Amino acid sequence: MRLREQLVAVAHSLYVRGYTFGTAGNISVREGERILISPTNSSFGSLKPGDLAEVSLTGEPLPGPSPSKEAHFHLAAYRARPEAGAVVHLHSCHATAVSCLADLDMDDALPVYTPYFAMRLPCLPVAEYYPPGDPALAPSVEAAAANSPALLLRNHGSIATGRTLQEASALAEEIEEQARLYFLLGARGRALTPEQVAELRRRFR
Ligand SMILES: [Zn+2]
Repeated sequence: MRLREQLVAVAHSLYVRGYTFGTAGNISVREGERILISPTNSSFGSLKPGDLAEVSLTGEPLPGPSPSKEAHFHLAAYRARPEAGAVVHLHSCHATAVSCLADLDMDDALPVYTPYFAMRLPCLPVAEYYPPGDPALAPSVEAAAANSPALLLRNHGSIATGRTLQEASALAEEIEEQARLYFLLGARGRALTPEQVAELRRRFR
């Protein structure tokens, strides 16, 4: 399957399973020196391969549909993660709720409840809040992404990178589910201990 078709298939899958809604979120894949990205005001549910916008890795829009106004932080994530081939940005409910918590550890936003979350991420940093499209968001994302393949945007949502679209999507889903556990458990949760987390990261990274 071509990258365009793969991107659309992953976007549809996220939409039908409720990870995104309306025109929230955007998704991109790297192809050589450019990225293909969902266009401005598009829905993951009705995206078509021919709809995708193209932007050079240095940020110049290429001929075709206009890119999402959040394309600049996708580019920042690719700059920070040379191994990344895809970026998924969601406003999924529980991850976004975590990003809005009054008392949030900006270096690592969630406790680790289950092993796979620890195995996939060294930490879940949070990029400072800026309005959508604000140029200051990109350096904030780049700094956070340098520490982890995924991050939260303060009062906004999540960003997950991966070598492939499937990997980035799976990581975005993992963050949403870990955030859901966090709220389900409330004060009753028992997180893995720092020693248990360190042991997982030693064994599986
Ligand atoms: Zn957004």
